[in-house]
Amino acid sequence: MLNVPKRRKTFQVRVGEIYIGSEHPIVVQSMTNTNTADVDATVKQIIELHNAGSEIVRFTVKDEEMAKAVPDIKKKLLEHGCSVPLVGDFHFNGDILLSKYPKMADSLDKWRINPGNAGSDERFRNVIKLAIDYGKPVRIGVNGGSLDQKLLARMIEKDLKRPKEKQLGAHRVFLDAMVKSALTSAESAVDVGMPENAIILSAKVSNVRDLIYVYSTLAKKCKFPLHLGLTEAGGGSKGIVASAQGIGILLNQGIGDTIRVSITPRPGQSRTEEVRVAQEILQTLGLRAFFPMVTSCPGCGRTTSTVFQTIAEEISKYLQEMSPVWRAQGYKGFESMKVAVMGCIVNGPGESREANIGLSLPGSGETPSAPVFADGKQIATLTGDAKKISEEYKKLIEEYVKSHYK
Ligand code: SF4
Repeated sequence: MLNVPKRRKTFQVRVGEIYIGSEHPIVVQSMTNTNTADVDATVKQIIELHNAGSEIVRFTVKDEEMAKAVPDIKKKLLEHGCSVPLVGDFHFNGDILLSKYPKMADSLDKWRINPGNAGSDERFRNVIKLAIDYGKPVRIGVNGGSLDQKLLARMIEKDLKRPKEKQLGAHRVFLDAMVKSALTSAESAVDVGMPENAIILSAKVSNVRDLIYVYSTLAKKCKFPLHLGLTEAGGGSKGIVASAQGIGILLNQGIGDTIRVSITPRPGQSRTEEVRVAQEILQTLGLRAFFPMVTSCPGCGRTTSTVFQTIAEEISKYLQEMSPVWRAQGYKGFESMKVAVMGCIVNGPGESREANIGLSLPGSGETPSAPVFADGKQIATLTGDAKKISEEYKKLIEEYVKSHYK
């Protein structure tokens, strides 16, 4: 892989025990979808998200019931040994809730405010003054769906006064207004007395190319760390692909200090999917490593059974499940290990030799044995059905981890 892109220099913001910005690792965030007032359900989901790898978790605080629940959520999390930094998401009434519920305000490690629906500039500044008093960092999070309409109207009017050939058009003005809203809100916060190293910015839109334009422009105009995310990305493969495109292209330009993948889960699907996707975006770009990844071919007419697909899936699952266990046992660096599962003799032995450890399965009509290579040398030959080969390969992977990553 080519060198990792150089990150943009930013202020460094502390959120709980996590630092965001500049040379600090790009932080994975997530957001709950439980009713925040339901303390047990929210605590359970925060723990699930944190165990899946979310380094900061956000939840909505939209009314008094939710505000009252926040200190209990914090307390119960600590009782479970979970100290993940918590972010409260405020819209419309943040100033009221944060002044009326001081324990709630203090239990949170960061506050997210949307200047487009803070109520007024004065109410926005009131939230900032409270954040200064409590020593809390904020994310000023502009969103395409709730952009400050007065600002937008002023900018459209200004554009219409330009000669026709110099007009930018409504859509481009809308995107520029997103940038302006984020920057002027940050300037206003600094004017009130907020330290520059306590502000994170985001300006999320739902179209990939728009997102790239907005964040590239923001990145040129400020030194605040940027929280990346494609808003309303959608569900299934569309949500994953769109998020990976938008976030990935920006990260590859060195832009972005923390990411959240906003995909719509399928009914019954775990909320942790968004964490895994965020990790995979960072890992496939070589920016961070969370668990070893499987290199597997797509399979073709040379693999006529499902043995190859079953083993590739099994090994992938095994590596994700074992990573926290190996980490807890003190093994280090295994996250970058390359593990191959290949379908036939065409590319199988070559790709398996290239991996740290690789399994080259037989294609149809080939000798029914599967050589395993470690560091380019054959160390075993496996035979049998998918279950037997999987189990034996897992043992060899575990031995490799234990002997190479002490
Ligand atoms: S390695 Fe073999 S099975 Fe896999 S895609 Fe290539 S030719 Fe097909």
